[in-house]
Amino acid sequence: MDYIELAMKRAKESNCRSDTNFFQALEEVLISIKPIMQKHPEYNNQNIIERIIAPNRSIYFKIEWLDDNNEINVNNGYRIQFNNALGPYKGGVRFHPSVNPDILKFLAFEQIFKNAITGLHIGGAKGGADFEPKGRSDKEIMKFCQAFMTAFYNSIGEDIDILGGDIGVGAREVGYLFGQYKRLTNSYDSIITSKPLSLGGSLVRNEATGYGLIYFTQNILKDKGETLKGKICTVSGSGNVAIHAIEKLYDIGAIPVTCSDSKGTIHDSNGIDLALLKDIKLNRRASLEYYTLERSSATYTRRESYSDESSHVWDIPCYAAFPCATQNELTQAGAKALIDNGVKIVSEGANMPTNPKAIDLFLNSGVLFGPAKAANAGGVAVSVIEMSQNSSLTYLSFKQVDKRLQSIMSDIYKNIKAVCDEHDLGDDFISGANILGFTRVADAMIMQGV
Ligand code: NAP
Repeated sequence: MDYIELAMKRAKESNCRSDTNFFQALEEVLISIKPIMQKHPEYNNQNIIERIIAPNRSIYFKIEWLDDNNEINVNNGYRIQFNNALGPYKGGVRFHPSVNPDILKFLAFEQIFKNAITGLHIGGAKGGADFEPKGRSDKEIMKFCQAFMTAFYNSIGEDIDILGGDIGVGAREVGYLFGQYKRLTNSYDSIITSKPLSLGGSLVRNEATGYGLIYFTQNILKDKGETLKGKICTVSGSGNVAIHAIEKLYDIGAIPVTCSDSKGTIHDSNGIDLALLKDIKLNRRASLEYYTLERSSATYTRRESYSDESSHVWDIPCYAAFPCATQNELTQAGAKALIDNGVKIVSEGANMPTNPKAIDLFLNSGVLFGPAKAANAGGVAVSVIEMSQNSSLTYLSFKQVDKRLQSIMSDIYKNIKAVCDEHDLGDDFISGANILGFTRVADAMIMQGV
């Protein structure tokens, strides 16, 4: 049995058999690191694989809260503190009905390597709750956030574990979570990033993941003598990452023509109306179906059901595709449609949005592929800039942070490219990113002893 089979067997024995997302993320990393496992016997000698695939600590807790009808609700909350070899745990919090230990283990595992790839000193974690924020009043959101923080505040700290945003957790939720931590501990510690500016947030944090995604993609294309300028691009999702990816695409002269949400897809061949999109999603918190009421040139395609895998975004011909909604949203069918329509590059804004079979299709067809661990690392990179501004009580301008973001994304690309060159991996940036992240974490673990 080789180390991949052995590790997968161990993982399946010590986790729930239905942890399919976690196993998918795990297998991808294990396969990618093959070239270095042969060259570095110390990873075997130090039993790094078995140690790295198990979370340091998994915290499961109950969240009890009162809704507007004074009824008591109960939700499940989780924090997976996966690995802190490189620094304090760091990773977002997700509020969505689909949240479960499997989803959070996969996200926390990915976060370890993503954080390592940035070159910053942070470990990997992820948390969340199976809470549906949609349809809840502001007061209910506040009550839920307070109950969530009360349930596990004593497990975090600015040198221990720092939270952030993710699906369902934006500036409003971050403000409530931060306020409750302050109330419980009488401290203004920076235990969460993506804070509103007036609570110590950083300029560009809101935009960072979407902007960083486009900067990373530009770096790949620049090496090939290509550019996004004037090119048709498709984007899925319509949340924080998608909106800011679309915004940056316009800034650089590209033409984003799609966006989507959990109910359907918009195709606007004249280019997505960004102001309208922001108004629907950020101000009104409404469904994208309202878009066509104000833009008759656009078409709206409803998803058959929540589990309907055909997002319709990928049927639209484009030069570059940016999945920015959720995990496993881009399947074989989507990949095939994109390839048939001549896509040149796919770059991941969401975490693990492309399933393994779709990735194989892209790589085998010579489509350039920007993996999430690198392409969406801009958010966590600016989170660390937010933390450093908080601890030094200094504040950087939008231009200063944006410049640092551009330089971090460019360094990430250069470092991954160097790994690809060293191991003859061609343009397999997935393996390059996994090797880069894995070696940084494994080497730090070895240095710290057992
Ligand atoms: P968000 O603001 O909550 O937006 C998520 C968007 O995706 C919403 O528009 C949502 O639709 C849509 N969506 C959810 N499930 C969908 C599905 N099955 N099909 C199509 N659309 C779907 O979240 P976000 O912060 O943009 O995060 C999006 C992805 O990026 C996640 O994978 C997250 O882990 C990753 N990410 C985020 C950051 C960050 O800084 N925020 C950093 C790194 C990675 P509805 O509006 O209908 O709910």
